[in-house]
Amino acid sequence: MNCNSDKVIYMDNNATTRIAPEVVDAMMPFLTDCYGNPSSMHTFGGQVGKAIEEARGQIAALLGAEPEEIVFTSCGTESDSTAILSALQTWPEKRHVVTTRVEHPAVKNLCENLAQLTGHKHRITRLKVERDGTLDLEEYRQALTEDTAIVSVMWANNETGVIFPVEEMAAIARERDILFHTDAVQAVGKIPINMKDNAIDFLSLSGHKLHAPKGVGVLYIRKGTPFVPFINGGHQEKGRRGGTENVASIIGLGRACTLAGEKMEEENTRVRALRDKLEKGLLSSIPKSMLNGHPEKRLPNTTNISFEFVEGEAILLHMNEYNICASSGSACTSGSLEPSHVLRAMGVPFTAAHGSIRFSLSIYNTEEEVDFVLDKMPGIIAGLREMSPFWNPDE
Ligand SMILES: *Cc1c(COP(=O)(O)O)cnc(C)c1O
Repeated sequence: MNCNSDKVIYMDNNATTRIAPEVVDAMMPFLTDCYGNPSSMHTFGGQVGKAIEEARGQIAALLGAEPEEIVFTSCGTESDSTAILSALQTWPEKRHVVTTRVEHPAVKNLCENLAQLTGHKHRITRLKVERDGTLDLEEYRQALTEDTAIVSVMWANNETGVIFPVEEMAAIARERDILFHTDAVQAVGKIPINMKDNAIDFLSLSGHKLHAPKGVGVLYIRKGTPFVPFINGGHQEKGRRGGTENVASIIGLGRACTLAGEKMEEENTRVRALRDKLEKGLLSSIPKSMLNGHPEKRLPNTTNISFEFVEGEAILLHMNEYNICASSGSACTSGSLEPSHVLRAMGVPFTAAHGSIRFSLSIYNTEEEVDFVLDKMPGIIAGLREMSPFWNPDE
């Protein structure tokens, strides 16, 4: 199969990323020659186990964590489930969970189904967000109770890129002996993280959001944190996650974390500048367009822009004609006419939420690509508005 990726302008990196060529190189031996089981007694398998430990060290280094605090999982979603369900099993008598209204479905839908999973009825507090997508820390403080087992708040939002003050929030939870989990899938590799400096107990990350393969994730578990495994089985991961390791992907994730550390500076200078050029250009050349999310408290690669009175899905189809890949905040594809829960929680007006597009860049984007998108978008939006019954150019 040929996907013609060289023809594509890929600005959908919060959905998934290209595997870095260096990562592919690092993985290759483990897909071919080095096929031993890391748990085996013989050297053939044992050397694979050593490579896994090296990868664990590379991931720990990016996070400022200890290697033994890194547990490999199958994805970000598994890490999220593991952390939250562990806390609820640690304190089965505590029946309260604090989270936000803008979490990824991995946390949002888990929280909605807790009763079925645990056999207990839990009270869930979903913190509101402001119009710019930020949280109210006073509301957060007041939400915490004696009954709260765990707080789960994402580090950065996948749709808007808005960054939450999770370190401050974790410190507040710690004072009350409440466990704190953060879904850092979008933050890791894009902004500096140092687990030595904070009180976060659990952190989730996912390989495919930082130029490693799909199907591998990590749950960081702070040393000393009570933990109940989600997948029981063999003694892998010191009994914290059974199942023979996804060796090649783990090696790839290790390499990707080292690369992310090296590219962090570029992400926050060159990629940020490209994002800013794209954002400013779109907002200034297209009338009735607006930014969703706090302008500064944001990931360097993400911009979410609403083009009023047009349908996000229609915009994407027209962008697709030019091989431009991005995402929309409306969800007509899923059969509902409801715009994204994130934009709704922010109070983005209906006519704007429906026409929202998320552009998410990476180190592989170029200025030529940004210029191309800036050249095509005004025509796409104007063409769609001409056909829109809601659009009144004189308004
Ligand atoms: C992609 C994503 C996930 C899910 O990760 P998977 O590895 O795809 O399961 C969870 N949270 C956030 C914020 C994400 O962006």
